[in-house]
Amino acid sequence: MSIITSAEVFLIDIPVETVRTDSVQAFLKQETIFVRITTADGNTGVGYSYTIGTGGTAVLALLRDYLVPKLTGMDSQYVEKVWSDIYNSTRATATGAITSLAVAAIDTAIWDLKCKRANQSLAIAAGGFRDRVPLYDTEGGWLHLTTDELVKGAAQSQKRGWPGVKLKVGKPNLHEDVERLSAVRQTVGPKMHIMVDANTSLTVAEAKRRAKAFEPLDLFWFEEPLPADDVVGHATLAKSTSIPVAVGETMYSVMQFQQYLHQQAAGIIQVDVARIGGITPWLKVAHLAESYNVKVCPHFLMEIHVSLAAAVPNGLYVEHIPQLRGITHTELKIENGFALVPTTPGIGIDWNFDAIDKLRVS
Ligand SMILES: [Mg+2]
Repeated sequence: MSIITSAEVFLIDIPVETVRTDSVQAFLKQETIFVRITTADGNTGVGYSYTIGTGGTAVLALLRDYLVPKLTGMDSQYVEKVWSDIYNSTRATATGAITSLAVAAIDTAIWDLKCKRANQSLAIAAGGFRDRVPLYDTEGGWLHLTTDELVKGAAQSQKRGWPGVKLKVGKPNLHEDVERLSAVRQTVGPKMHIMVDANTSLTVAEAKRRAKAFEPLDLFWFEEPLPADDVVGHATLAKSTSIPVAVGETMYSVMQFQQYLHQQAAGIIQVDVARIGGITPWLKVAHLAESYNVKVCPHFLMEIHVSLAAAVPNGLYVEHIPQLRGITHTELKIENGFALVPTTPGIGIDWNFDAIDKLRVS
């Protein structure tokens, strides 16, 4: 038994490390919601969740007022049961983004405890497949950057050894997107992977038009071309283009992914551990994708996703967007474009609680 004796929740605001924009939004600050759980056998588990600037206090309130008080007395070894009991106590607000984000902060703390009890890293406890994971770089591809800046950024990424770069698309006119992507492809040559991301901004008709124009540029994937609810639209697009369609960052339940996979609407799955509700459902999505022979390239949160992508056979890539450097003692180690998978017991993030406490909002 590993009975939970206490649990606390708090919110911090982490400033963004650089200006990040896409076709529909800007990353304003990382609202980060922490849950810390203590058990009778003397362990402490720390979990977290996030937003990119909106709704963090709503996640905090759901946890503080409803979910965290339920934890005391639960046996933290029963990972699935804790998830299920907490999630199912929220039927009137689930499925939904706020609830999934809240449950994720609890579930990642429960997994931190599970790993610490077993004296295992997350990558091993969650499956254990590889000890390093390739990273593609998103930091040089934001939509506000000029073509020259994109080209310089991609050349620098290539020099640093990144195997891929992601560029935002969704400029008002197709020719602008094509001009920007062509300039980068010309600079980096044929070997480097180039991913593009429209952040749900297009219609099916426009996405088909853009995909056709992008095809000669040999893109690795076309991410979130359409609103995430439009499974049929993604299936239609996927049938019409040779570029793999990537989705997942705006999806909040395992069954949403099942719909996409069943309808062959996605060629790459980008499940986000916070938005899906934690490590427990993240692994279900990854295994489901494996059963459809589809690769997983999780969205953002590289600090935890490296361990998860390393845990499953179909983990392919992790996105390089560092955001926790200000609140951790040690950084993820990167060698030649590969992140070395953390080996310490727990979820593998070396939190600096002095720095965290200084950023507390509540
Ligand atoms: Mg994206």
